[in-house]
Amino acid sequence: MQNVKKGTDRGFDQARIDLVKCPTCKGRAVVRGVFFELACTACNGSGWVVEGSKLVLPLDELVTQLSFKLQAAEQQITQMKRPSEMHGPEQQYQGTNRRGAGGSNFTGD
Ligand SMILES: [Zn+2]
Repeated sequence: MQNVKKGTDRGFDQARIDLVKCPTCKGRAVVRGVFFELACTACNGSGWVVEGSKLVLPLDELVTQLSFKLQAAEQQITQMKRPSEMHGPEQQYQGTNRRGAGGSNFTGD
């Protein structure tokens, strides 16, 4: 396992590093041992490695990069959901309204 060296550009915005699925575990984050699954050491158990170099990020940086990736994925999911919710107020009402307190449906009534 080889960690990417910490950049000298600290103090700037966090760079978005392109991550690709780990070739060792095929993005599954685990590899099958003899009796059970083990965290993949090639990618720090994340399932992702740096594109091109195939290096693994140190854990603190990995968390941030995975967060960026998750945020982008969530945005895509939101955009994909949107068209089906545009058919009328009735459907918006029934839709995935999870912004109410405690995750309950908040209808504004
Ligand atoms: Zn892996």
